[in-house]
Amino acid sequence: MRIDDRVALVGSGFLGFDLTDAFDCHMWAFETGDGGWVLFDAGAGRDVDRVLAVCERDGIEPDRIRDLVLTHAHGDHSGGASHLRERLPHLRVHALPRTAEIVTTGDEDAISLTAARAAGIYPLDYVYTPCPVDEVHTAGAELRLGDLVLTPIPTPGHSHDHHSWLVAAPGKRYLVSGDALFAGGRLALQSIWDCSVTDAIASVERLAEHEFDALLPGHFVFTMDGARRHVDAALEVIARLGCPASIF
Ligand SMILES: [Zn+2]
Repeated sequence: MRIDDRVALVGSGFLGFDLTDAFDCHMWAFETGDGGWVLFDAGAGRDVDRVLAVCERDGIEPDRIRDLVLTHAHGDHSGGASHLRERLPHLRVHALPRTAEIVTTGDEDAISLTAARAAGIYPLDYVYTPCPVDEVHTAGAELRLGDLVLTPIPTPGHSHDHHSWLVAAPGKRYLVSGDALFAGGRLALQSIWDCSVTDAIASVERLAEHEFDALLPGHFVFTMDGARRHVDAALEVIARLGCPASIF
């Protein structure tokens, strides 16, 4: 589903637009300006063919998808990486060090998948397949793909390994926020070992230091302009709770 000249939503499950498998997060595809495409997040991997069919429908031929960037290792965001890498032999997978470690080893406890399956959040037959990570990045260090400049911003809280990515395209800046910030300033806090409210609040403050026009989150609605208002909404709630991040 094309959302502007060079961005498409090619995966989205029941917490979004039911475009692909129910367990898929939003998968954002950006045209890199040199004939290639980069994907952000891999979905759950239960039906990668459906994702690739959406890509083709949007004019994104699979052999032009050269890069896959991950926000964090949770199953609905990185479970599809191995399946995509299998289908797209030229695909380079990018992640920050801790995410790369989990994805490479397929550590199901690190992503709370064992508990999530037992609780019925994932189907009992859902299996996470490990995936090699081709490029491991450093927070704040720019990755250039065509005329896009991608910058990973540490945004732990939802999970300890979480990073959001700023994508600067000519004339427009996007924040691919994963599960660190949703429209309306909502945060995704879960009862899992590595979820931290204090970290999540500090991450919102860190995002507030950056300029961006569009907010492309991992679930729910997205916004194409004036996206800073979603950060402001989160900061307003944090202030009302009486817990500015500075006290942590
Ligand atoms: Zn998550």
